[in-house]
Amino acid sequence: MNDQNNEITATAEITYTNNSPDKLSFLWLQLDQNVFTKESRYYAINSTSETVDTGGQFGGGYQIQAVKLDGKDVKYAISDTRMQIDLPKLLKGNGGVTRIKIDYSFVCPKFGLERMGVQQTAKGKVFAIGQWFPRMCVYDDVSGWNTLPYLGVSEFYVEYGNIKANITVPANQYVVASGKLLNEKEMYNNEEIKRWKRAKNSDKTINIRQEAEFGENKSSGTKTWKFKIEKARDFAWASSSVFVIDAARINLSGGKKAIAISAYPPESGGEKGWAKSVEYTKAVIEHNSQKWYDYVYPSATNVAATRGGMEYPGIVFCSWGAKGEDLRDITNHEFGHNWFPIIVGSNERLFSWMDEGFNTFLTDLFRETSDKGMQHKKQNIAQAGNIFMNNKLQPIMVGEDNMDIDNVGILSYHKPGIGLKILRELILGPEKFDKAFKTYIRYWAFKHPTPWDFFIQWKIFQERN
Ligand SMILES: [Zn+2]
Repeated sequence: MNDQNNEITATAEITYTNNSPDKLSFLWLQLDQNVFTKESRYYAINSTSETVDTGGQFGGGYQIQAVKLDGKDVKYAISDTRMQIDLPKLLKGNGGVTRIKIDYSFVCPKFGLERMGVQQTAKGKVFAIGQWFPRMCVYDDVSGWNTLPYLGVSEFYVEYGNIKANITVPANQYVVASGKLLNEKEMYNNEEIKRWKRAKNSDKTINIRQEAEFGENKSSGTKTWKFKIEKARDFAWASSSVFVIDAARINLSGGKKAIAISAYPPESGGEKGWAKSVEYTKAVIEHNSQKWYDYVYPSATNVAATRGGMEYPGIVFCSWGAKGEDLRDITNHEFGHNWFPIIVGSNERLFSWMDEGFNTFLTDLFRETSDKGMQHKKQNIAQAGNIFMNNKLQPIMVGEDNMDIDNVGILSYHKPGIGLKILRELILGPEKFDKAFKTYIRYWAFKHPTPWDFFIQWKIFQERN
């Protein structure tokens, strides 16, 4: 990463295993970063409306330097946010393997549609980097290749894999990312490593790096941070020379542990601000693990980044200006996504209600039932009826790209969230509902359910018989 012009230069090496029974004659990849070109469909749709930020986020996109398949040049075509690679010979089903290598670069937008960006803070930049490498499209037994373009609103549908990332940044920067840091001893000094050890055994937040120590790292040149995450549908990271870093242990079932980490610039800190972020992160991960399904990643990192909030496996970006209850709510929401759609890999591009709606249900329940979740007052479901039933709303099933943008909050988040709550509290009762919901999560973890797999759960019946 070049911290002066915000450019990322990278090589992606993808080992793709065709686990379907079908022979494949081509592959599809997601190039979501291309949403920021002025030729993108997103730009064409939005360039005259107020939704396009004027802060210079457009004009970037992937510059592809080379694409190789099994070491040889290969024919490929790019259309908007997708790339199709022609295979010189059919890729066998049931385990056929091919290797893709792509050299590319892009300039990170300052404000990337609330999902990533570069935030200038008082003492330095905070880089929050997502959608930064070409990712495999999902090939499934419902639609074949899922190649709907990224239009900015609807999110992602990407395949599971084990991901290693070597991230080279200026040596005075600190990187946090999805998964486990593999070369901790090369990246942190002895004192910091002692604090990490303490944090791994502490339920109270331990400060790893504070503002007063910023000047101590006088390293020049670059450093390469190495991370690894398994069974993940994506990988994101953040880097800054001005990160204050906190951490504490997360307790999971059967004595398993993970670590909650928070990284933020000094002005986001304070007891009303991000100094509380590790506590909030730990609370929501422990709650959802105990209630629904154990958290699966070694760390959960909350980064104070540009505005908005965005989830990735093991790491979330939340607004650096968020404080108090807002920070707690946004932390709860973004980490709730680690269950939907990160563990249960539904198709966000088509069915946003299966990630935002399910997650709204999860976070509302946490807020209402846990003393760590603020103990919000229970919503009055009956009063919500006229909001959810008004005739200006599209059907939930049309997907976010087909909704009036003003309706997305109701249709993707609150209506399905309340629907699940009605099912749980008024129709089935918590005991039956929770059993069914847990079974759904367990069965569809690391797979790709459709809405009908949720409604009918026939595959689960098959499993039982
Ligand atoms: Zn969300």
